Amino acid sequence: MTGKLIDGIAIGKEIREEIKEGVRKLSEKGCQPGLAVILVGDNPASHTYVKNKQKSSVEVGMKSELIQLPTTVSEEELLSHVEQLNEDDSIHGILVQLPLPDHIDENLVIRAIAPEKDVDGFHPENVGKMIIGQQSFLSCTPYGIIKLLERSGVEIRGKHAVIVGRSNIVGKPMGQLLLQRDATVTYCHSKTVNLSNYTKQADILIVAIGRTKFITDEFVKEGAIVIDVGMNRDENGKLCGDVDFESAKEKASAITPVPGGVGPMTITMLLKNTLQSAEQAFADGRCPQ
Ligand code: NDP
Repeated sequence: MTGKLIDGIAIGKEIREEIKEGVRKLSEKGCQPGLAVILVGDNPASHTYVKNKQKSSVEVGMKSELIQLPTTVSEEELLSHVEQLNEDDSIHGILVQLPLPDHIDENLVIRAIAPEKDVDGFHPENVGKMIIGQQSFLSCTPYGIIKLLERSGVEIRGKHAVIVGRSNIVGKPMGQLLLQRDATVTYCHSKTVNLSNYTKQADILIVAIGRTKFITDEFVKEGAIVIDVGMNRDENGKLCGDVDFESAKEKASAITPVPGGVGPMTITMLLKNTLQSAEQAFADGRCPQ
């Protein structure tokens, strides 16, 4: 079997058009959604991510603000910027680009973001609400994967989903979102013994481990849906996933490529969360200011 391609660029574009329309309607009422990004230091990958996020937010009509701080910035100064943005009614989404330098406590910074502006969905309040099924901001990458599955017509209910990777930003929330949609979920990680025993049982296999082309066809059940979250560089510096696309596609019924799969969806959901935050601010009378 040669798997159908799940096209994150096309699906992301479709959702961004809907977001653009939502932004236009809200802006007409005097409430333009605003996204602020704090970037610390000069990590080239972080710069690229931030540039893309800014560009995408402007494309859908949002106000975009960038606060760039040197690597040497103190934790106190960074927290004071977060505090100012929390108070700024023209900003509905705050994102602190990770990783932060070692002298800054990432958890402390994440907890300092007002939960109602935490459009990355990393604040413990949003994570907790997500787990008990209450309205919250969902972590952008897993949320984007849910949209990819839904818009590709993949039935989740009753399916066995196997998640490889248990990070707080991808693996763990991914499993919870699938559980809420009535999948049976198995988590695998680096201490899992005989990984392929589990992955070969997956109807939906989601891989987020950060290991170049680690998951080959030998890990995939015939007809499975394969979602590759990985963003790695191969020996030639080419962007590639955690899944060996060429071999896995022969067994999968549908599969995401890298690039062009999960990646575009992550930014799309960041925009969606920011619009959701602005809509809430409008409903609460906090926007326009
Ligand atoms: P982390 O490094 O935080 O977590 C990796 C997870 O994979 C850990 O749970 C680890 O297990 C597990 N793992 C590592 N090696 C193996 C192995 N050989 N077998 C089974 N499990 C293993 O990574 P992230 O979740 O942050 O990211 C994962 C990948 O996804 C990266 O390539 C990253 O660049 C990419 N990514 C892509 C995004 C996108 O928008 N497309 C967004 C976020 C991430 P243990 O817990 O036991 O250590």
